[in-house]
Amino acid sequence: PNTQYELLRRRIGSNTEEFWYFISSELQNLRKQITDSAPNAQQSLTPSIDHILSLGTEHKRSLIHDIRALAENDGYSTWRELEANDLSNIVQSRLRYIQNPPDCKSAKKLVCNLNKGCGYGCQLHHVVYCFLVAYGTERTLILKSKGWRYNKGGWDHIFKPISDSCIYDSSESGSNWPGSIDSQVITLPIIDSISPRPPYLPLSVPEDLAPRLIRLHGDPIVWWVGQFLKYLLRPQEKTSAFLQEAMSNIGFKRPIVGVHVRRTDKVGTEAAYHSIDEYMHAVNEYYDQLELKQPVDKRRVYLATDDPKVIQEAYGKYPHYEILADPSISKSAAVSTRYSESSLNGIIVDIHMLSMSDYLVCTFSSQVCRVAYEIMQNYYPDASDKFRSLDDIYYYGGQNPHNRMAVLPHDGHNNGELSMLPGDLIGVAGNHWNGYSKGKNLRTKQIGLYPSFKVKDKVEIVKLPVYPEAAD
Ligand code: GDP
Repeated sequence: PNTQYELLRRRIGSNTEEFWYFISSELQNLRKQITDSAPNAQQSLTPSIDHILSLGTEHKRSLIHDIRALAENDGYSTWRELEANDLSNIVQSRLRYIQNPPDCKSAKKLVCNLNKGCGYGCQLHHVVYCFLVAYGTERTLILKSKGWRYNKGGWDHIFKPISDSCIYDSSESGSNWPGSIDSQVITLPIIDSISPRPPYLPLSVPEDLAPRLIRLHGDPIVWWVGQFLKYLLRPQEKTSAFLQEAMSNIGFKRPIVGVHVRRTDKVGTEAAYHSIDEYMHAVNEYYDQLELKQPVDKRRVYLATDDPKVIQEAYGKYPHYEILADPSISKSAAVSTRYSESSLNGIIVDIHMLSMSDYLVCTFSSQVCRVAYEIMQNYYPDASDKFRSLDDIYYYGGQNPHNRMAVLPHDGHNNGELSMLPGDLIGVAGNHWNGYSKGKNLRTKQIGLYPSFKVKDKVEIVKLPVYPEAAD
């Protein structure tokens, strides 16, 4: 298919969602206004509004159903599978090549310490960042991981070593970033303090693969990050066996929606509180949609959380759902034990199950869910729309500015919205999931809300080494 076709197909899908976010939330506002301020009109008007809401939802589902069916019937689905495999093979062989240089002793290296002072998801993102820099500088990544807070023995106890042949020699003392092109060993600080910042930090994708990625995938950076995780998270045999066992113990079965409810220390500091009902509302919508396509015997959920109370509440409130959860996992995620060895198995299982689910409902403010979403990309040609975040849009901690480009004009004068002209760059702050996003027009410096459908994502493309020596 040509790129334009694929972009349009995805755009129609996401804008159908945006259209209904807009209409339904405006109608709900209206309904509330009437209830609050015009009780006399309430009796006659609310039933009409409710009718529009309910039939409107059906309209939307039918459209989404047909748009998805289009992708299954346009004759390109085999192409999508093959293209995704091919691109992944290219990247994986490059990563193998970088990590297994012909002569380890003389190879240029980049040293990172796994043990960034943060949670497991955050640490994985730290390693991916290091790997991206290694890719950009043609250096072999050396991961220092002895004494890791999640496993004192280090990374290799859980995952395959990131190199078969090139092991860290602690006698090699490196230069600090950026070093020089001749520095044999460079030590990298965390992304929050790297200076100068190289251009290939997220959300950039490599120029040589960009045209194919943009055609294939709705969010190329997520795919790109997913490839690094695919290489990094190759499990050791015992990890793999343990994950298998966890899946069969819990009765993992499709269809299944992965729900991640992040509470405890995150709420009120880095994220707002969301009730279990909000998550389940999105789960319900997923299944209502799915039922247009196939009968659903049981509405099944895998529930991951760092707060065991959430599991009890879900069991109590949603008895007609099949809720798969392991309360001992969320107990081990308690703030007091979370950054220790006893919590590693739990978080690995939870992220694995979430990433294996058919759809994710969570808050992207949590790195746990973003990691699951990134890994999920490895199981489909394009899983960029298989999620519902209750707060942030996808981002990568420490990323460069995320811009979109206006494709339709918007005059926000009269209602305090963001004005824009086609071609304007809009720095994105977030999606309010009501038809509007927040952003800054980089031309006028105005900050405000704008209708989400009037922009398109601007994929950042950057020149990177192409590794011709890496054989497939
Ligand atoms: P974030 O703080 O949610 O962005 O994610 P991080 O991974 O950086 O740190 C949170 C830590 O809390 C995780 O690494 C886990 O140790 C723990 N945690 C949070 N949510 C869950 C969950 O759903 N299951 C388990 N097992 N642990 C969790």
